[in-house]
Amino acid sequence: MIVFRQLFDPDTSTYTYLLADALTREGVIIDPVKERHARDLDLIRELGITLRYSIETHVHADHITGSGAIREATGAQVVTGAATRLECSDVLICDGEQLAFGNEVLTAIATPGHTDGCTSFRWRDRLFTGDTLLINACGRTDFQQGDPERLYDSIQKLFAHPDETLVFPGHDYEGRHVSSVGQEKTINPRLAGKGKQEFVDIMNALDLPYPRRIDTALPANQACGHAA
Ligand code: FE
Repeated sequence: MIVFRQLFDPDTSTYTYLLADALTREGVIIDPVKERHARDLDLIRELGITLRYSIETHVHADHITGSGAIREATGAQVVTGAATRLECSDVLICDGEQLAFGNEVLTAIATPGHTDGCTSFRWRDRLFTGDTLLINACGRTDFQQGDPERLYDSIQKLFAHPDETLVFPGHDYEGRHVSSVGQEKTINPRLAGKGKQEFVDIMNALDLPYPRRIDTALPANQACGHAA
C-alpha cells in the first residue's frame, strides 16, 4: 500500500508530490512551495507521515522552495542533484543513487539541460520529471546554464522507460495532471518525430519573456528557501 498525493500551487502552477509507504508511514515530498508549506505540513500530520526527505528536482527560478521550512518542521533531509552543489542541501544525489522511505525506493536520474543540476526521480511506475519533461512541452533552456542539446539527451533517458510509465511534471499551466512516456513520445510537439537538431532549433527560437520571479527566487533557493 502506498500514499500518493499531487498538490498544486495556483500562483506558480507548480506541482508538489507527497509519497509514502502506507505500512511504515515513512515518506518524501518533492518540490514543495514555500507559500504552501503549512498546507503540506498539515497533510503530512493528518496522514501520520514521518518525512524522510524533501526533494528538489532543480533550483527553481519561478517560486521559492518550501524545503527549508519543511526541514525545520519535520527534520527531513533536503535532497538536490549533485550538480547543484548547494551548500544548504543535506544530500547531493548522483545519477542512479537511491533514496529509501519505509519499504519504498526512489531512484535519481540526472537530467541536466533545463538547469545543470536538474534531477528526475523514478518511483514504481512513475517518473517525477521536474521541468525536464512537461506535458506537451519541456523546461526552457535560456537561463540557469540551460542547454538544449543536454536537455534532448536527458529526455531520451526518460523516454527509455516503458511507454506505460507515468509522467508527473513539475508544472502544468493548462490544468493537465499526468501524462505517460508513450504519450509524450507521440504527441509532445517539441519532441514527437523530432531529431536533436530540430529540437535545439525549436528551443533556441522560443523567445520567452524574462522569468517573472527569477531575481528573488534564485538567491532564496540557493539557500533552500531561506532568505539569502
Ligand atoms: Fe524550472
